[in-house]
Amino acid sequence: MEDAVDTRRRIHADPEIGLELPHTQELVASKLAQLGLRMVMGRGCSSVVAVIEGDRPGPTTLLRADMDALEMPEDTGLEFASRTAGRMHACGHDAHTAMLLGAARLLCDRRRELAGRVVLMFQPGEEGHDGARVMLDEGLLAEYHPDRAFALHISSVLPSGWISTRPGTLMASADEFRVTVTGRGGHASMPHDATDPVPAACTIVTSIQSMVTRTVPAFDPAVVTVSTIHGGTATNVIPERVVLGGTIRAVSDRSRDLVLSKLGELCRNVAEAHGCRAEMEVQPHSYPVTVNDDDFAAHTLAVARRLVGDGAMTMPTPVMGAEDWSHVLRQVKGSMAFLGAAPSGVASPAPNHSNHFVIEEDAMADGMAMYAAMALSGDGEPA
Ligand SMILES: [Zn+2]
Ligand SMILES: [Zn+2]
Repeated sequence: MEDAVDTRRRIHADPEIGLELPHTQELVASKLAQLGLRMVMGRGCSSVVAVIEGDRPGPTTLLRADMDALEMPEDTGLEFASRTAGRMHACGHDAHTAMLLGAARLLCDRRRELAGRVVLMFQPGEEGHDGARVMLDEGLLAEYHPDRAFALHISSVLPSGWISTRPGTLMASADEFRVTVTGRGGHASMPHDATDPVPAACTIVTSIQSMVTRTVPAFDPAVVTVSTIHGGTATNVIPERVVLGGTIRAVSDRSRDLVLSKLGELCRNVAEAHGCRAEMEVQPHSYPVTVNDDDFAAHTLAVARRLVGDGAMTMPTPVMGAEDWSHVLRQVKGSMAFLGAAPSGVASPAPNHSNHFVIEEDAMADGMAMYAAMALSGDGEPA
């Protein structure tokens, strides 16, 4: 456990972003080498994959930890805080990496009990860089053919001692979009001689909200947020264009497809009503809905119950965040669970992605045990 805390702190102090995480990759590789494990490094990213063979035949279990940090300042005041300005491990991926390394050690020590094999997936680029997709494209599943897949995610707002998940939809999809509204620039005092894209863009923002509430079923929700608006340079100039940016989140493929199919049409029609043109682009790196296998989610909760008793909780609703683990769960039976790690004695802990995000490091012991227990658990154990 001391080793896991030390590893987590080293990664925390040296956060790396995106698909290239050379220092983190080197640290992970050195720890796996100490265990005598063979490794395969990614070609198009800093991934690390290692395999632990059990002494008995059984299923292949894929266990995943993501390793990347966020582009944001850290204001925790921790002694091992980020040493790189503008980068922070604010989503707990430092802890995920350390916990999976700790679990690897546990599993290597218990090879005799291990039926089947464990594939350790250390993944870069979860935070919007689609690292899991890159690993799949490089043949992860084709190479190892996992029968089941499990990932764990730290939460700084769930109490320490909790492990929670749910059958079915766990997390939302995420699609980023950009809408360019084009009119004709001119003098701000004579809008009649111009075609002003500003009111068109503002109407688009409010119309999107009406469209969502009138189109998407209330029990199968979606969220559309326009989070950036860029247009104009001077108060006496009507600009030629305004660019809107935002995100679409949905908890089913049906609602996601509904919004994606309506949004472009709405923007074009509203712009046209104002004499402007609108073009919508959806960014290619989208994350689908994260859906747990129902039986495997029940199995996950049963394993968690053995470790944390009543701390094994069924979540009442999905969360609207998104995960590229969703790509794996589309192809392999599996689940993701949340590990509570709220700092003790704090009334309202800072959430994941906050510049004040801190965790209770003791919770990492549960995380290590959970990863290992999932690999050691037999298929079809009673839920
Ligand atoms: Zn995150
Ligand atoms: Zn995360």
